[in-house]
Amino acid sequence: MGMNLEMIKAKVSKLKDIYRKFDQKANEAKKEQACEKGCGFCCKEAGSIDITTLEGFAIRDAMKALPRSRQKSLTKSFQQEIKKREKGIVVPCPFLMKNNACMIYEDRPFSCRRIYSTHVCTRQNPPMVSRQVMEDAKLTIKALQELDITGYSGHMSYILYMLSTPEFLDTYLKGECKPEEIMVFGKAHKIIINKMVV
Ligand code: SF4
Repeated sequence: MGMNLEMIKAKVSKLKDIYRKFDQKANEAKKEQACEKGCGFCCKEAGSIDITTLEGFAIRDAMKALPRSRQKSLTKSFQQEIKKREKGIVVPCPFLMKNNACMIYEDRPFSCRRIYSTHVCTRQNPPMVSRQVMEDAKLTIKALQELDITGYSGHMSYILYMLSTPEFLDTYLKGECKPEEIMVFGKAHKIIINKMVV
């Protein structure tokens, strides 16, 4: 079944409900967190910030609400991030601002929501998350993939790149899942087919 923008909007609203449900459960554990605005450790050291295609839509919407000049520089930063990543160089998330705050904090993907730490992190001492939150996060990822059953999951830059490709976007909006269309890109960039994992 095809999806129009209204249907995508409804799904994005369900996506936010899933985030809220997780937050409600995790909030108790997060009382112990050492994280605070201006840290940005996870945003600089993240190996892969995995998102679903639907989360990509929500992020695209958040980007559209930013000033035009910022949208332009973000497009450039994402292109550069992809180039560096292809060479095996990990760079900070393009949404991280100079003050180490997130440009799209309210709309950040689940990968960023699930991480917190009970101590201030360093490379030698990476984030520590409670077992319960880890278990809840696993269930939440499953729910996010179920909600986006005709979509894919993978590193944020790659999913955003796919959504900016007219052929892929068209297939996605038609509600079709055609892994063969992205086979070469998908294989090389560790893109997962949501319906294969739920
Ligand atoms: S989206 Fe925001 S919270 Fe997530 S890694 Fe990027 S800057 Fe950090």
